[in-house]
Amino acid sequence: MGWAILAFRTFWKTDEKEAFALPYALNDKIRELTPYEPISGAFQIRLDANESYLSLPEPVLAEIRARLEKLDFNRYPDPIGGELCRAFAGYYGIDPKFVTAGNGSDELISILANAFLMKGDAMLTVAPDFSMYQFYASISEIDCVVLDKGPELSIDVDELIRKAVETGAKMILFSNPCNPTSLGLSRKQVRKLIRSVDSLVVLDEAYMDFWDQSLLSEVEDYENLIILRTSSKAIGCAAIRLGFAVANERLSNALRAIKSPYNVNSFTQMAGTVLFQHKELLERARRQIICQRESLYDALLSVQKEFPGKYKLWKPETNFVFIKPEAPEDARRIFEFLLKNQIAIRCMGNYLRITAGSPEENAELIKLWRLWFAEEEKNHENG
Ligand SMILES: *Cc1c(COP(=O)(O)O)cnc(C)c1O
Repeated sequence: MGWAILAFRTFWKTDEKEAFALPYALNDKIRELTPYEPISGAFQIRLDANESYLSLPEPVLAEIRARLEKLDFNRYPDPIGGELCRAFAGYYGIDPKFVTAGNGSDELISILANAFLMKGDAMLTVAPDFSMYQFYASISEIDCVVLDKGPELSIDVDELIRKAVETGAKMILFSNPCNPTSLGLSRKQVRKLIRSVDSLVVLDEAYMDFWDQSLLSEVEDYENLIILRTSSKAIGCAAIRLGFAVANERLSNALRAIKSPYNVNSFTQMAGTVLFQHKELLERARRQIICQRESLYDALLSVQKEFPGKYKLWKPETNFVFIKPEAPEDARRIFEFLLKNQIAIRCMGNYLRITAGSPEENAELIKLWRLWFAEEEKNHENG
């Protein structure tokens, strides 16, 4: 068949100037893919992507501006981002030799799936969790085993261990605290997991700045632990694409060897360095976001009391709240109602995820949230 097509093409080409081209066939793993599409359009209030609602403090901006003037735009970046990794390590009180920088933690997830696993190896993750895990696994032709969290959305560590052993998983990857459930697994539980399996445990601590159960200071104690962190959430710098992997020296060396040499550009290295050197400003921002998370959660709880049983919500350890409306179709209806009113949140199947915004943004959201349930009640009473 291939030969016949080739012969036909050759024959055709000699006859015609315009070559007859067979459509190029995309392979099975990418044929059905479409580009990632965040909510598009200019909505006044964006509570859909778990970003920080704060803009960079003026002293940080001023220093970035000053250093920008001196940036060597004609030169390649520092391949290991030494100054950046030292600033990051300084902020978190860890040893810089355990730190590898990435072009967002997204890039690091992709590298891990690609290089730490062989085609056909099993990777264990949980659901619901960050969708990129399963995506990168499929691109790397990894066999993805998914443990379902069940209706309470909690991870049963013993079951996870059993599953890892049973499937011979080479890697276990999950977020803690979790996006999208907003729930966390205690340090003690995670330690138990790491000690009980042969698998590499990749712990995505993208939201750990909002909780206090990090294992960052313990990476040296484990042969099989890699922790991912990001500048996109509490650090308030999603725009510069900057993430980190923290692991013992052996794993860190492997990571640096497989990443592309200039994965973090010079501007990002500089801006990230400046940011992490402003410890007090970062701390203040972190506290402000946690405060808004608490007030958003409290407000949603009080509306819940006004409309009992209309939705379930979980006490969050992150900068967002995860909600399950009583009627499955209501998730999408509420989402669309808010969007019509210039507020973007995330709709994920029968669940909603709302990022904590500024006090004004949260107040506007709560006003419309209450309005939606009040209207529903009225419509229901009227028949
Ligand atoms: C937002 C997020 C990240 C961060 O990705 P970046 O590429 O660093 O912006 C990683 N993991 C989870 C679970 C997230 O929600």
